[in-house]
Amino acid sequence: MPTPLSVAYFTMEIGLTAEIPTYAGGLGMLAADLMMSAADMGVHAACMTVRWQHGYMKQTIREDGSQSYAEVSWKPEKHMRLMPNKVTVQLDGRAVTVGVWAMTINGRGGHKVPVFFLDTDLPENSFDDRKITSQLYGGDGYMRLKQEGVLGIAGVRMLRSLGYESKDIGTYHMNEGHAAFLTLELLRERDFKDEAVKPSCAFTTHTPVKAGHDVFPYDMAWKVLGDNLPWHIKKIAGEDGLSMTHLAMHLSKKSFGVSEVHGMVSNRMFPGEDIGFITNGVHLGRWTSPEMQKLFDTYAPGWHEKPEELSKHCRDIPDAELLTAHKAAKKRLIDHANKFAPVALDPNVLTIAGARRVVSYKRPELIYTNLERLVEVCGGKVQIIHAGNAHPADPFGQEVIQRMIERSRELKDKVKIVYIPNYNPDLAKMLVSGADVWLNTPTRLHEASGTSGMKAAVNGTINFSTLDGWWIEAYASDPESGWRIGPLSQALDADDTRTIDAEDLYTELQYQVIPEFEYSDHVRWARRMKRSIGLAGNFNTHRAIAEYREKAWNEERQA
Ligand SMILES: *Cc1c(COP(=O)(O)O)cnc(C)c1O
Repeated sequence: MPTPLSVAYFTMEIGLTAEIPTYAGGLGMLAADLMMSAADMGVHAACMTVRWQHGYMKQTIREDGSQSYAEVSWKPEKHMRLMPNKVTVQLDGRAVTVGVWAMTINGRGGHKVPVFFLDTDLPENSFDDRKITSQLYGGDGYMRLKQEGVLGIAGVRMLRSLGYESKDIGTYHMNEGHAAFLTLELLRERDFKDEAVKPSCAFTTHTPVKAGHDVFPYDMAWKVLGDNLPWHIKKIAGEDGLSMTHLAMHLSKKSFGVSEVHGMVSNRMFPGEDIGFITNGVHLGRWTSPEMQKLFDTYAPGWHEKPEELSKHCRDIPDAELLTAHKAAKKRLIDHANKFAPVALDPNVLTIAGARRVVSYKRPELIYTNLERLVEVCGGKVQIIHAGNAHPADPFGQEVIQRMIERSRELKDKVKIVYIPNYNPDLAKMLVSGADVWLNTPTRLHEASGTSGMKAAVNGTINFSTLDGWWIEAYASDPESGWRIGPLSQALDADDTRTIDAEDLYTELQYQVIPEFEYSDHVRWARRMKRSIGLAGNFNTHRAIAEYREKAWNEERQA
């Protein structure tokens, strides 16, 4: 008999390591960080996800700056074990058989959180059905419906098959609307009574843009899901189309955004709903460089268990030791970057890095708005490192990357710029720990939270960012912990805002960031690094999990 669970956490993607490519980006990293913290904190949790054959893709750069993205083939048996359990779910008129792999996250105190990966690549299934768990975010609407049917409906059935009875699970947590079909199975189990399902479900939305929320036409949904849909589906999922977000919200006791401002934007986007927020975090043990971890062990003992110790003790770290620890991480980054650099980077020069999925709202080219100004401000004083993959089917993103590479070659004698290929969690860790400054320039109200800046902060890398997502909260809590770009609110239209932000970026660099780095023997710089580390006491997944336990999982009722 398995132990009863406080939470069964359902997520379409999870990014536990670079070797298990069942993720696309930040959503998967967050799911993994949350589950790692749950394991550390002894939360009775289990994670339900999908064994994607192809999720994350490996990026390589050709000589001309164009990119190729290759599917990563991986062997699940190297990382997880195949369980004997099988369940079926009726999809597109056929009974699809779903198997499961299990892996365990071991917490620091020895507590274990299992992660279950659903898999339809079984001999019982037709060729088409075997492909349902092939490609994360791969196919069309039809395919997506089948995939979400597997995650939600087969996911709950699989929990039952694994021995978790209905009474054994406190809360089913939907990480993004992808998981919302779990409510259909719970409705079936509970006589189709919404009120019987709601107290058992909670939901987190991650997308501040309407177009990012899945809505399926009902004729398609009926065809794929058939009798899985209850008669009152339009009442709970929307009249005009099956909205996964509405379904999740209407059958949850509580819904959350992932930062304060994102909670506000979500309420505006879905009038009449009641959406709270729990600001995201990162798992500090995962993202902090080994050199910095050793310092924390000495000056903020217990920080793994109680991250708030970092806020209390970051000022106790001696400057010299802090700078030496950071220098080691910086050397690792520069050595790696130099494999791709048109001209070798210099470990003593102020290094600004930014890395993210290349999508337009993140404005990856903002710093190149005015090249003359860039050269004037940064020439000889600043070097820049970029990384970040584009979606293989996204020509905009690929062009952006190609332009960055061309620019790095054109400007090589004026400003050193390197684009490092194949952004994955290993490279992310190298970048966030080795850079001096972490640059993030999203269009305001479009970055739901942003977590790479939190990874930078714990490493003493200083954030330089437009005010959006988590950075609004962090900057308000300590304006000396980094720098902001541009005004607080969305000014004018997008083009005007872009010009204002770009100008401010150059001005801040010229009069604040560069002088602080170059002068005063790094005393002021080290002080700012410590304040950045202090932010990590709050912006971590231990704190986020504690909030979820209190506000979403109502653990005390269960005990
Ligand atoms: C942290 C991380 C992300 C998410 O970063 P954001 O700042 O939220 O965009 C995406 N991809 C990888 C590999 C990461 O490590």
